[in-house]
Amino acid sequence: MAHICPVGLILERRKERPTSECPRCKMVETNVHIVTCQGPDTNPKFLTAMETINEWLDQGPPQFAIAINELLRANREQREPNWHLVSDDMIQTTMKQQWTMSKLALQWGFLHKGWVPIITEHLKGTKRSAPKWLAILSNRIWEITEDLWKHRNDVEHGNEKANQLSSAQHRILDEQIDRIYTRIPASTRLLPMTTRHFFNRSKAWRKNRKLKEKRKWIRDADVVLRGYEDIGNRSRTARNFENYFSAQTRNDIDD
Ligand SMILES: [Zn+2]
Repeated sequence: MAHICPVGLILERRKERPTSECPRCKMVETNVHIVTCQGPDTNPKFLTAMETINEWLDQGPPQFAIAINELLRANREQREPNWHLVSDDMIQTTMKQQWTMSKLALQWGFLHKGWVPIITEHLKGTKRSAPKWLAILSNRIWEITEDLWKHRNDVEHGNEKANQLSSAQHRILDEQIDRIYTRIPASTRLLPMTTRHFFNRSKAWRKNRKLKEKRKWIRDADVVLRGYEDIGNRSRTARNFENYFSAQTRNDIDD
């Protein structure tokens, strides 16, 4: 598990690279460093990944969500977790077991088996299985590490041209995202129920997505908003018509 990716220190041992320096922040690079690196752009990447994880955790026990968030943050910040954030005894105990099993385990998506009965209890009465639910969580956690790993490689291999091109594309899409946000009605309750989820994310979160995902969202959101704006226009016409008629009627009376 510890040698899962060829990070700096191992590459140096294999004499494939002259130094064991992290390409992002120039510190000595160990396996832990992939997620603990505080180099440029690593924080937004980590926070975006945490949002994706929390989307899933929202369906679990709230205290469990706090425990997982705190463990991942503590690992990234290389500090002891704040155990008092969790008041549920069973969850706090399992949180400690998860941490002592190995600080790295969670980062690689390995969950302690103690979580199974907790999730089983939570999912009681539904048809969902706890191991499956936890496997999905584990995948999402693994994606943090994978994202930060890919980012590190982009920096290392100096994919600068590719990066410049993609950041230009990101800029264009970000402007479109800005425009879409100005079109969202103040109360999304005015939108059809099935389309509200398009707008339940912050603008910053939206802008942190991958190019492909942004393009799709812009397209879909535009269709939804155009539908809404059409209704607005129609009712405005209807209102004008009504005003015109009532004015006519008043004129008739005045005559
Ligand atoms: Zn670094």
